[in-house]
Amino acid sequence: MEASLTARDRVGIQDFVLLDPHTSESAFLDNLRKRFHENLIYTYIGTLLVSVNPYKELDIYSKKQMDTYMGVNFFELPPHIYALADNVFRTMQSEFNNHFILISGESGAGKTEASKKILQFYAVSCPSTKLLNNVRDRLLLSNPVLEAFGNAKTLKNDNSSRFGKYMDIQFNHQGGAVGGHILSYLLEKSRVVHQNHGERNFHIFYQLVEGGEEDLLRWLGLERNCKNYRYLVQGDCAKVSSINDKSDWKTVRKALSVIEFSERDTEHLFGIIASVLHLGNIKFDADARGYATLNNNQEMHWVSKLLGIPNQVLQQGLTHRKIEAKTEEVFSPFSVDHAVYARDALAKAIYGRTFNWLVNKINESLANKDSSRKTVIGLLDIYGFEVFSVNSFEQFCINYCNEKLQQLFIELTLKSEQEEYEMEGIEWEPVPYFNNKIICDLVEEKFRGIISLLDEECLRPGEATDITFLEKMEDKIGGHPHFVTHKLADQKTRKTLDRGDFRLLHYAGEVTYCVVGFLDKNNDLLYRNGKEVMRQSKNAIIKHCFPSTEPDSKRRPETVVTQFKSSLVGLTEILMSKEPWYVRCIKPNEAKQPGHFNDVLVRHQVKYLGLMEHLRVRRAGFAYRRKYEIFLQRYKPLCPETWPNWKGTAAEGVQLLIKHLGYKPDEYKMGRTKIFIRHPRTLFATEDAFQV
Ligand code: ATP
Ligand code: MG
Repeated sequence: MEASLTARDRVGIQDFVLLDPHTSESAFLDNLRKRFHENLIYTYIGTLLVSVNPYKELDIYSKKQMDTYMGVNFFELPPHIYALADNVFRTMQSEFNNHFILISGESGAGKTEASKKILQFYAVSCPSTKLLNNVRDRLLLSNPVLEAFGNAKTLKNDNSSRFGKYMDIQFNHQGGAVGGHILSYLLEKSRVVHQNHGERNFHIFYQLVEGGEEDLLRWLGLERNCKNYRYLVQGDCAKVSSINDKSDWKTVRKALSVIEFSERDTEHLFGIIASVLHLGNIKFDADARGYATLNNNQEMHWVSKLLGIPNQVLQQGLTHRKIEAKTEEVFSPFSVDHAVYARDALAKAIYGRTFNWLVNKINESLANKDSSRKTVIGLLDIYGFEVFSVNSFEQFCINYCNEKLQQLFIELTLKSEQEEYEMEGIEWEPVPYFNNKIICDLVEEKFRGIISLLDEECLRPGEATDITFLEKMEDKIGGHPHFVTHKLADQKTRKTLDRGDFRLLHYAGEVTYCVVGFLDKNNDLLYRNGKEVMRQSKNAIIKHCFPSTEPDSKRRPETVVTQFKSSLVGLTEILMSKEPWYVRCIKPNEAKQPGHFNDVLVRHQVKYLGLMEHLRVRRAGFAYRRKYEIFLQRYKPLCPETWPNWKGTAAEGVQLLIKHLGYKPDEYKMGRTKIFIRHPRTLFATEDAFQV
């Protein structure tokens, strides 16, 4: 039987647009599954790339493969992430404009891997000179460093991104990569002091303890045993079979030197990482009145030594808070609980600020020294949508961010595409789709969105609690179709909710959030004298991270979620000014296993990623459109009637031009201001004619 199967039966179709016009979700799924089992993890929907995580190494990323895809028309070879990367690059080169690649999918779907493959492709395929090679190496090696400090093992993914990353790769006129710039978004700092069962802290801690050289560890006062550090053992899984901390340590060390970290920088950096571990081990005793004390604490001596802060200052800072009285400063002692809280807050602040410093430092080394005009390709790789058995403030932020990216995708593809046809007077049968704007609004609307309500509660210290926040939400948004709590739920749903929970119906599914800790994490308070203590540090990085110019303002700093919201607005603006391309990543199973294609799981992702709708719009629509003027300007040499000077209107010129090129009536449509071309291959043929 096998032999009688046609290639198409066996390997499926490489572009969904070519499937039967009435493709059902099941047929869509069949095609994906077929291809997955043949190790064909990539499939197109037009120029959008769908990628299914194979959970095994495939022999498709070699230099030879890269060469094969370089400069070849998109649809001439089997779908590949390299084909997409190459197409983006060539479009940028020919149109001299900016682009971005939005990589999305849930946690563990393969976003970070995809973004690395794209970067590797550019590193190999771009023209190189000695100088450019330098930039290329730094671009590539920024990855292991940022992953060491910003990724961690979670229950969903052994290398889960715990920060959002947007990276611009800058190209000069000849297409050489001349520089880069990274923007990072909201690192999950709480992981520094707490990890859920089965999860780890950020990789770098384990790398240092497992891989650090003997004399380095001695200098840092560390023992080679992760189990000795409170901040590393809460998840009870310091060792992970898929991770080799020792060899990763070597990679990071090498990478740091390539991206221009001096010996002193690295010394200070690891001094900080070790200090965080020591901080976590500091134990407080209670004195007779129940106040926190530190008795000649070994760990504190190490922190003091490594950060260059006098012992007494540190001790005072960890056990007291400063209260400003009218004329003098008064120190009020902490209770033990309070001291533990302040210690953890300090550890989080130190790590979070050091991470930002690291990103800046990498950016300095990637900065483009050449001032000539350049174009960019942006890569967006952010933490994916995630649902755990208990979800907290962090998941709320991450899932909100994914909601915003989905909204951007909808705006740029489904919505604007259809609106454009209408505006241009192109006949069009509207494709219905679910617009998740309603959920974005529920979260971020001014005055009545969840973020506003949370911030309001954060402004009532002493009075507000996580529970009053929950009650406020019930009061203000209780009737919203995407929001439910124990109190608001019908009997059946109520059984699935605790009293301290609220549930959001996200575009990607339901998530139940436990409200405990929301106020605290959103406030992210660091006691003022915590900052003052850090300012006395002799460690250059800490000095930089806690500048004396930082206002001690009586004004409250912006809350975490509000800062995050503004940074996402900024990101959206950056993206909207560029041409979009998409990679949609799919996770085939929850067990991180190769060869397992879970239909239910994949079907769910196909649904919420809006792939069917995208296919419908793509199939009925036009892959390419350009203003008449631009189209004419580029291709007029191909037609004697329009070359060299065309005197009529641009639309008339284009009409003559395409007649000359032999476009068939069903291949294109003329809109009010633009020409619409159905298939990219039509345009490729025109491009080829142009090259001859
Ligand atoms: P998160 O949102 O948690 O950061 P992610 O989408 O970035 O998740 P990745 O870290 O890219 O997920 O992928 C998870 C794991 O899946 C990788 O560590 C790797 O083992 C495997 N994987 C992903 N893509 C590929 C691929 N193309 N080839 C082989 N393995 C892959
Ligand atoms: Mg990732």
